[in-house]
Amino acid sequence: MKRSRSAELFAAAKNFIPGGVNSPVRACRSVGCDPLFITRASGSRLYDADDNVYVDFVGSWGPMILGHAHPQVVEAVTAAAGLGTSYGAPTPAEIDLAAMVVEALPSVEKVRFVNSGTEATMSAVRLARGYTGKKGIVKFDGCYHGHADSFLVKAGSGVLTLGIPGSPGVPEDIVKNTISIPYNDIGTLEETLRRHSHDLACVIVEPVAGNMGVVPPEPGFLHKLRQLTRELSIVLVFDEVITGFRLSYGGAQEMFGVNPDLTCLGKIIGGGLPVGAYGGKREIMDCVAPDGPVYQAGTLSGNPLAMAAGIATLKLLQQPGVYERLNDKAAQFAAGLSEVARKTGVPVTLNRVGSMMTGFFTAMAVTDYETAMQADAARYALHYRQMLEDGVYLAPSQFEAAFVSLAHSEEDLERTLQLTESSFKKLLGK
Ligand SMILES: *Cc1c(COP(=O)(O)O)cnc(C)c1O
Repeated sequence: MKRSRSAELFAAAKNFIPGGVNSPVRACRSVGCDPLFITRASGSRLYDADDNVYVDFVGSWGPMILGHAHPQVVEAVTAAAGLGTSYGAPTPAEIDLAAMVVEALPSVEKVRFVNSGTEATMSAVRLARGYTGKKGIVKFDGCYHGHADSFLVKAGSGVLTLGIPGSPGVPEDIVKNTISIPYNDIGTLEETLRRHSHDLACVIVEPVAGNMGVVPPEPGFLHKLRQLTRELSIVLVFDEVITGFRLSYGGAQEMFGVNPDLTCLGKIIGGGLPVGAYGGKREIMDCVAPDGPVYQAGTLSGNPLAMAAGIATLKLLQQPGVYERLNDKAAQFAAGLSEVARKTGVPVTLNRVGSMMTGFFTAMAVTDYETAMQADAARYALHYRQMLEDGVYLAPSQFEAAFVSLAHSEEDLERTLQLTESSFKKLLGK
């Protein structure tokens, strides 16, 4: 497969942009190849600068649940652009999208739009601190909540893949307020919350972890978390930046029947444009400026193009049977992958919730950060390169999710299974 144009572009990009990329995982270092430069996308397909075509399982890291360039989303964004791209003043579309979010998520009574998932989580933590008057936060090893200072402690794929324990530039004074504990470990959770409750503003969690590869919550974990935080007056924040509108229309909170105090959103609610949001109980949200003293602002927040893309996306997701169709398709695909692993004898632990999944190259169950790290990342790198050569675009790291979208056809998935089988055979030297 010819990649000369991508190679030229990468060389040019490195002159002007650190590492040639605007987000580190895109550099593909952990899979040992150079990034492809993408020039267009449609449905389940991505096209690179050399005009190679790929079946895409990254989906812009989650947002593209409808597939790329869905005609109704393109139409909505185009129409909005014609009316002006930003006013720095309130617009009717913000009310529409906010009302849709409030209606979709059982725990959200008010919502504030921002421009990224990072902004959402950062603002939610500030709000939790302002509301409780306490400083400490608890997060879980391997969960990623964006790149704000407080969260760069054992923080999921991007950081994991590079092997950086936190990051230089993050003051110790800030992370000393962050406690990171193992995911799915109810004992440590209870002990930590009881011991530190006097100083804890919030617990933030990915209700289904997606940034150390997909790791589902074990039965009872989220319920216990809810029960303890309620008892100890600690704000519970669900980071549903990936899972919101992905697992079901009501997100992970609907799927697992656990209502957090605050919810962070991003990815899908922007329909592929830059958006984030945080929302929750009225009593807490009323502490946000200008109603309350907790400051948070944004020049482009509630941007009309992003609102239009989000509304068009959610409208399509409201249609009856959409999530059943998506999740059934993903379940079938996952079963196919497990069967390929069994048949070829390559040890794979496949974790899947709804339409997000990770095949870990290990025979061990993957339930937390430590077990995820048992996966053979070098083997994944080889598999990644073989699949790419055959026109399948997987996440360039073992510790990421693969996303099935509504645009993947039976044929896309069937062909991907066949190519996976031949890749696995090559891994074994057959
Ligand atoms: C992607 C992600 C974020 C950060 O969102 P950005 O838009 O990249 O800032 C936060 N939390 C989770 C769970 C994510 O997957």
